[in-house]
Amino acid sequence: MKKIIVLVITVFLFSECSTVPITGRKRVNFVSDSQVLPASFAQYSSFLEENKLSTNRTMSNQIKDVGKNISAAVDRFMRANNMVSEANSYKWEFNLIEDKTVNAWCMPGGKVVFYTGIMPICDNENGVAAVMGHEVAHAFAKHGQERMSQGQLQQIGGLAVALGTSGKDSESQQIWNTAFGIGSGLGMLKFSRVHEQEADRLGLVFMLMAGYDGTEAAEVWVRMSENSGGGSTPEILSTHPSNASRIQDLRTYLPTAKKYAAQYNANGVVK
Ligand SMILES: [Zn+2]
Repeated sequence: MKKIIVLVITVFLFSECSTVPITGRKRVNFVSDSQVLPASFAQYSSFLEENKLSTNRTMSNQIKDVGKNISAAVDRFMRANNMVSEANSYKWEFNLIEDKTVNAWCMPGGKVVFYTGIMPICDNENGVAAVMGHEVAHAFAKHGQERMSQGQLQQIGGLAVALGTSGKDSESQQIWNTAFGIGSGLGMLKFSRVHEQEADRLGLVFMLMAGYDGTEAAEVWVRMSENSGGGSTPEILSTHPSNASRIQDLRTYLPTAKKYAAQYNANGVVK
C-alpha cells in the first residue's frame, strides 16, 4: 500500500505529457533524466568492463565514425529545436564488442553497443548507419523512460532498484538489462510496435541527416529476416520484432524522411 501511495505521488509530481519531436506523438514520461542517466552511465561502464571490446580496428572505427556522424546530426537538431539542456545531457559513446550475438542497443543518454555478430547483417556503412539511427532514435525519443513510466518495470521487479546509481549489484543489473535488451535470456521486454515504428522512422531521418543512403534501412531488416529463417533467432529480434510490414513502412516513409532531412540541412529545424 505504501508503495502505491509513493508511486501515485511520484506520478502526480513528475507526470508530464510531452511530444516526441518530428513524429509529434504524445507520450507520458514521469522519469526524469537526473534519475535515469546516472544509472544508465553506470550500467554502461559495468557492461564494458564485463565484455570484450573487438580488436578489429576497421570495424570498431566504423562504428565510432558512423555513431559520431549520426549523433552530431541529432545534437545539431536538438540545439536548433529548443532542446539545448537535453543535448547537453547526452554523453554519446559507441563501442563494438566481440560477441557473435546479433544485437545492438543504445541506453538512455546515448550509450551505444554493437555486437560483432550484427556486422554481417549491417553489411556496409549505410547498413551500420541504419541500425545506428534506429538505436539512437530509441534514446532520442526516450522510449526506455516511457516504458518505465508505463509501469512495465514495476511489473518485473522495481523501478527503484533499476534506478539505483551504484549499478553494480546483480539485481539492478538484471532489471536494467531486461529493460534495454542487453545480454541474453528470458523475459526481455519487447519494444512495442509503436516504439519500433517510431525508432524506424526517426532513425531513417537521422541517417539521412547525416548523409547516409536511407534505402539501406529496409534492406538491413530484409537481411535480418533472412538470417532468422534457419537456426537460432537473432537476439535483437527478441526485443525488436521484425516483419514484412516494418520493411514496407521503411520504404513508404523514405520520401517523408528525405523531406525532413532536407529541412534540417537548410536550417537545422524540422517542421
Ligand atoms: Zn528498436
